[in-house]
Amino acid sequence: MSDTITRTIDAIADRSNSVTNECDYRNSEGILICGMCNQPKETRKKFPLGSGTYKYFPIKCLCDEQAEEEEAIRQKRDEIKRFIEDGIPDIRYRGYNFEQDDNRNPKASELCRKYIKHWSDMKESHYGILFYGDTGGGKSFYACCIANALVQSGFRVLVIRLSDLVKNRNNKLIQDIDLTRYELIVLDDVGVENATQTAYNIIDDIYKNNIPLLVTTNLSPSELKVPDTLDKQRIYDRILQMCCITQKIDVSISRLEIAKERSRKALNILNQ
Ligand SMILES: [Zn+2]
Repeated sequence: MSDTITRTIDAIADRSNSVTNECDYRNSEGILICGMCNQPKETRKKFPLGSGTYKYFPIKCLCDEQAEEEEAIRQKRDEIKRFIEDGIPDIRYRGYNFEQDDNRNPKASELCRKYIKHWSDMKESHYGILFYGDTGGGKSFYACCIANALVQSGFRVLVIRLSDLVKNRNNKLIQDIDLTRYELIVLDDVGVENATQTAYNIIDDIYKNNIPLLVTTNLSPSELKVPDTLDKQRIYDRILQMCCITQKIDVSISRLEIAKERSRKALNILNQ
């Protein structure tokens, strides 16, 4: 064996590498055993192979492996928390998830669940969804169900109103949001008032970077298809290209009914 190899082996086999707790002990072969899980914290090999003296190399006991796993889980949780704080700045959007789904629109729920199930294909081909319908039906709710489920799986999503994104980009004092960091973008509440050059530039950026896009709008696909100005046409063309799946969200439960239902639930709790 060359000197370099010998020195490398000696460095690895340096027994000070074996972190020793007070309860650790050595067995009859001189191997360090963890006092907590009773698994070896070292393995021994003869060098030169077979004939030489034993050298002891540190290995992980069950506690070390468990600690590493817990650390990995903690890091993942912290990362998801950062993704949510960064990509879903509006707290209202964070609360929209499948657990809150009252199945008032089973078709929409099913579409959202299928979209998540086939996410890798949707992402690969950058297929998006257009949620349209009157105000109050829950278009944002369904779009956010998808966004929140994906962020929990570790994907980077951005959920924002198009008007806020436009405001942000027009404000030279604050840093523009780098859209390319996201794997899915939800533009909430796209309406006629958004037909500006900045709005077009934003939507075009999303298009050029092949980022799957979910849009919620009060405009119907037919209104999107026959806009009355060229500015609108440029924007809507892009949106229809990207949001090739369309889902109508009907207002099936009126706000009054929702209020009644909430009141009933509150009284139930109070009367328990
Ligand atoms: Zn252990």
